Amino acid sequence: MNGIILPGEKIEAECDCCGEFVTATYDYGKLVLQSGVTVDKVMRAVCDVCGEVLEVAHQSVHRISEAKRKSYVKKNFRLPQPLKDYAEVKALELTGEARGAVEFLVRAGLRASQRSVRSHKALLARLSSLQDPILSLPGDSPETILLPQDLSREMASLQKELHGVSQSDIFRRLLVASEQEPIIQKEMKSAARA
Ligand SMILES: [Zn+2]
Repeated sequence: MNGIILPGEKIEAECDCCGEFVTATYDYGKLVLQSGVTVDKVMRAVCDVCGEVLEVAHQSVHRISEAKRKSYVKKNFRLPQPLKDYAEVKALELTGEARGAVEFLVRAGLRASQRSVRSHKALLARLSSLQDPILSLPGDSPETILLPQDLSREMASLQKELHGVSQSDIFRRLLVASEQEPIIQKEMKSAARA
């Protein structure tokens, strides 16, 4: 069958774990994603020496995308229209696409916070001291975004540390912070290139 790999097929691949070229054998099994989500029945090539997953077969890519999509956490909040405009102008400038702009910027902010303890602290300080007239405007524009589980956990941790600040307010602050915070700008640029 063209393009479909059967269990037992072998390849040669470089294994980071073993530090050399090894033979790897394809079989169905679990794949644990970076976010912690586990996907079943993935055809992947496993290092014959150490068991590390070295390749994922094309035939399983859709199962992985589906598992990622299902694991996303939905967040609803409201934001002032001018802040939404800012997000759309910014995303359009970076990606050529205004759709999904708020989600794009929020994810970049949370990813920046997740990057290291240092950037988490820098961002916390920025979010708690932020002052911008746009933050006191009424939240007249409803927004729904999806967050991967790891970013949703990052959001929960920010909310715990910024006690008293609502989730909606943190989302709005993340958007405002993205205008000045270099660590968020870096994440936006690398996400735009991906
Ligand atoms: Zn290995």
